Amino acid sequence: MINEVESLRDLEVTCTNCEASCCRLEAMLFNDTEIPDKFIVINTRGESSMKRLEDGWCAALNRKTMTCTIYEKRPWICREFEMGEDECISARAANR
Ligand code: SF4
Ligand code: SF4
Repeated sequence: MINEVESLRDLEVTCTNCEASCCRLEAMLFNDTEIPDKFIVINTRGESSMKRLEDGWCAALNRKTMTCTIYEKRPWICREFEMGEDECISARAANR
């Protein structure tokens, strides 16, 4: 896994050659008031996150284009996620 992660570091990291890997991560919701209810799940502790489908991808992802269908209203945590950061590299490796 580490070697795989390190080898990915040598590749160009860009969303255009990625199958929305980060959209398989849990996306917690904080003060995100514009997310449609159908995309929200609430756990037993009362915490909200984006609903994910059985294969792990976020329910708000357009599966044909692999783009976010609520991009303008996407959660804060998705806005903060930066291409090329460690979590991005790890998500890409996990999605291979
Ligand atoms: S931010 Fe990283 S993991 Fe997310 S789509 Fe872009 S390259 Fe892929
Ligand atoms: S809300 Fe959009 S950007 Fe965030 S995980 Fe879901 S599909 Fe990806």
